[in-house]
Amino acid sequence: MIVGIDLGTTNSAIACWKDGEPALIPNAQGDVLTPSAVSFTENGELLVGLAARERQSTDPDRTATVFKRYMGTDRRITLGKKRYRPEELSSLVLASLKADAEAYLGEEVSEAVITVPAYFNDKQRRATRVAGELAGLTVKRLINEPTAAALSFGIHERELEEPFLVFDLGGGTFDVSLVEMFDGIIEVRASAGDNQLGGEDFNEVLVALMRKSFDLGEDPDQPDEALSKLLREAAERARRALTNANEVEMRVVWNGAEHTRALREADFAEAAEPLIQRLRDPVLRSLRDSSLRASELAEIVLVGGSTRMPLVRKTVTKMFGRFPNATIDPDHAIALGAAVRAGFLERQADLSEVRLTDVCPFSLGVGVAEYDHRGGMRDGIFSPIIERNTVIPASRVETYSTMQDNQEKIRLEIYQGEARDVVDNVRIGQLEVPVPKGRAHEVAVDVRFTYDTSGLLEVDANVPGTDIARQALIYDKSDDELTTNLESRRKQLAKLKVHPRDQAANAAALARAKRCYEGQLGPMRDQVSQIIGAFETVLASQEERQIDEARERLIEQLDQIEGENYL
Ligand code: ADP
Ligand code: MG
Repeated sequence: MIVGIDLGTTNSAIACWKDGEPALIPNAQGDVLTPSAVSFTENGELLVGLAARERQSTDPDRTATVFKRYMGTDRRITLGKKRYRPEELSSLVLASLKADAEAYLGEEVSEAVITVPAYFNDKQRRATRVAGELAGLTVKRLINEPTAAALSFGIHERELEEPFLVFDLGGGTFDVSLVEMFDGIIEVRASAGDNQLGGEDFNEVLVALMRKSFDLGEDPDQPDEALSKLLREAAERARRALTNANEVEMRVVWNGAEHTRALREADFAEAAEPLIQRLRDPVLRSLRDSSLRASELAEIVLVGGSTRMPLVRKTVTKMFGRFPNATIDPDHAIALGAAVRAGFLERQADLSEVRLTDVCPFSLGVGVAEYDHRGGMRDGIFSPIIERNTVIPASRVETYSTMQDNQEKIRLEIYQGEARDVVDNVRIGQLEVPVPKGRAHEVAVDVRFTYDTSGLLEVDANVPGTDIARQALIYDKSDDELTTNLESRRKQLAKLKVHPRDQAANAAALARAKRCYEGQLGPMRDQVSQIIGAFETVLASQEERQIDEARERLIEQLDQIEGENYL
């Protein structure tokens, strides 16, 4: 069985191909979304998912979230006394999902299709593969998240070759992609986005509103961290409640006093206007990059938990002048699409129906000199050869000429990026080409860039009419570190003591109660303390039925204090 996995920044999900359709697999708590959070308990036990996320505020030093942002970088994350690479933490999430699938399917799961953002560069992709391998999974394919989303909405079952626009607003990132199926090949034609825009930013807006209307007695110069967390959580609850109601209540209990404020959809819309504005730009850019008009889109599909917000749906509807397709839950679409892809792999006969191609996520080019309008020469201007969103493998050639009489060589500085000034781009290599003597502008060099999915950039330079040719193969060396000692690292990670799966719900409830305790003071704090004590006593009894009842009771009491918990 090949599973499909959405390894998300905020939440992850796993699905499989079953009875001719994709199906989500629940985790040990029965949820189909597993927060991408990892935490170590005081005893060194590993918690993954909701219990880990609840510990984010009570045990920040032993808990990690949003590590997907650092995939493919040299960033290390310290948990307790140990430092982890981002792909190692991702592997712990993957291993947990794998265990959930094995428990659910009753068989070993060793192969997976994993999704990655379309803009992930090669190193980030390799890091994702490594994460899979560290979790004991053979990664059969990495596919682009928007491609997976389009598959879950059935792009491969369409007759017409019309593009889908995938609008993905998650916890902290916003991605817009144009996906097209042509001649049996699915292609991401353009991707654009804002990697600092998501549900969290909308929470910030509500936190600001609450600070304005609640008399919390806080010293603005010394913001209280516990209070900030409390407000953030109240914001998340209110924002979610607003999905099903026109008016909700924002509520916190702080210093024994209850503070509430009504929040209407219109207030929220007004306060969030600057964020709403930022949703437009990437949409326009992706249309422009692919030379498409909004009217040519076959579907606009909503993906990512934050597109559940009616405010976002209305904005999208206005932007395109029609309703987006929301037939599939936005936070399930990517995992379901990965399972569709896994299904194709399993039924090898159908495989040729869908091939997935890729795009180059950034522009590649060389630095050149130019004359400015006053005739002076300016160095260090970027001249793109392969532009971002070009379908790869790609090969493009550009011709450059000398700037001075009797110049002896042309030095090609090779860059990756989008900025006009090369200093703002990433320098990835260089190549020197000797040239025959001649007048300025009359000696030319053809420079060919060839880029493929392996992430190798081949640069071929030749001087037409001569046999002068130079070649460079550019490859990111820091990459080797990513794949060294894989086997021993996998063994190290496999040795971690994992908190028992059948205890996941208890761990999550307890972690939530402890978090709630930290946010309270005075009598309310005592009350929370007592209910934690009561639950711990029952837990120690090891009587399963009683524990289940006590956990339900605990959750009910917590819901009363802080409102229903969310996933
Ligand atoms: P990611 O792709 O970042 O891993 P998701 O697609 O799971 O994440 O989206 C997570 C975000 O979705 C969170 O910020 C959460 O607040 C938001 N979200 C989930 N459900 C709702 C809802 N009902 N209303 C508003 N926002 C929601
Ligand atoms: Mg996502």
